[in-house]
Amino acid sequence: MNEYIARVLENLRRQYANEPEYLQSVSAWLEMIGPAADDPRYEKLDLITRMVEPERMFTFLIPWVDDQGVTHTNHGYRVQFNSAIGPYKGGLRFHPSVTPSVVKFLGFEQTYKNALTGLPIGGAAGGADFNPIGRSKREIMRFCQSFMFALYRYIGADTDVPAGDIGVGSREIGYLYGAYKRVTGRAESSALTGKGLTYGGSRIRQEAAGFGTVYFLARMLERQGETLEGKRIIASGFGNMSWGVCRKAAELGGRVVTLSGPDGYIYDPEGVSTQEKYDFMVQMRYQGDDRVEAYAEQFGVEFYPGKKPWEVPADIAIPCATQNELTVDDAVMILANGVRYYVEGANMPATAEALRLLRLSPKVLTAGAKASGSGGVAVSALEMVQNSLRYSWSRKEVDAKLRGIMSSIYDASAQAAEDYGLGYDLIAGNDIAAFRKIAEAMIAQGL
Ligand code: GLU
Repeated sequence: MNEYIARVLENLRRQYANEPEYLQSVSAWLEMIGPAADDPRYEKLDLITRMVEPERMFTFLIPWVDDQGVTHTNHGYRVQFNSAIGPYKGGLRFHPSVTPSVVKFLGFEQTYKNALTGLPIGGAAGGADFNPIGRSKREIMRFCQSFMFALYRYIGADTDVPAGDIGVGSREIGYLYGAYKRVTGRAESSALTGKGLTYGGSRIRQEAAGFGTVYFLARMLERQGETLEGKRIIASGFGNMSWGVCRKAAELGGRVVTLSGPDGYIYDPEGVSTQEKYDFMVQMRYQGDDRVEAYAEQFGVEFYPGKKPWEVPADIAIPCATQNELTVDDAVMILANGVRYYVEGANMPATAEALRLLRLSPKVLTAGAKASGSGGVAVSALEMVQNSLRYSWSRKEVDAKLRGIMSSIYDASAQAAEDYGLGYDLIAGNDIAAFRKIAEAMIAQGL
């Protein structure tokens, strides 16, 4: 780390002392881009500060009334992180853990994830500390409407394009889009992505996050002369990301044997690999009680309350749930259990120490979420293209494009690491490739 970067980090630590997730993601990134950051232009233009801090951020109150007539007030955020290569773009998360630190970390990661897709999208993130678990459909709709009353003035097809994340799926995007249309009076399709297929959504968008991760993994396997055939995968979460991973892995001959929730994990030795099981995962998501135990009851498999799936022996681990779900103890277990590929689906799923352990171990090959987790936003960008063309591509077309994008991200990551003498280090490689792209765009556009 050069002197200038060390100074940027120190300033950041002082200014954002109470924002642990944000500091964690920026610190890890600064370490990764180190080998590529010795360019006098960066300090001259104070480029690194401008790359690690958001261009702007909005905070708003969201009052709403529940079915019993009780008023609640939640806190909403939108961080518009970086617009160097396109309109701000990123998800909305509805979860009680949402804080300014969490949205900043998500917006930061999104910026560099989006740059890797090769499509012209900047980075953003947002959400609210609202807990949708146990809420009725009407309550969710009212909440989304109140949220949009505040958000609509900051977004738009050429300004900032929100999408889903934890707690925000196609149903919520529908309510948000409906509210946006009413308040602006415009059917501005690409003001939001993740829309339903009947009103401008893209085919494969729901599957994209998980499919993209497996396409990326397939390239890693290919390099080692392997395929997914017969491989056992341990995954966490039971949302969109894990759903897509289960499906694509099964299609390519692999088997996801675990799913997890806040209540524990299930172990399904035959694999989450039938249509009935996929459909059940979707149903679990929508019944709104955040328990994975229901899967064990339905399919007669083991449920391990209060435990995490990393204790199960497997070939591949794919964390798909949330940030910092994987600790040093989990990483030790993963290494001891013979896992040879660690591929991130969720954003920053491992603590800094856990990631360091995995990344530096010769036993396991690692891929970071900014690369392997970018399939969702890649298809969001394709949704924007289709909206501007007033056209929609077939499933096959979108899937082929997604596969091509994930493959280019893999190539760019491997190449950048190679260029800087780092060997086969996909995480450093993806951070450097995205960093260089955004840095050049910012320099070209002046101060
Ligand atoms: N939460 C998503 C992601 O991680 C959505 C971003 C988008 O589609 O804009 O990439």
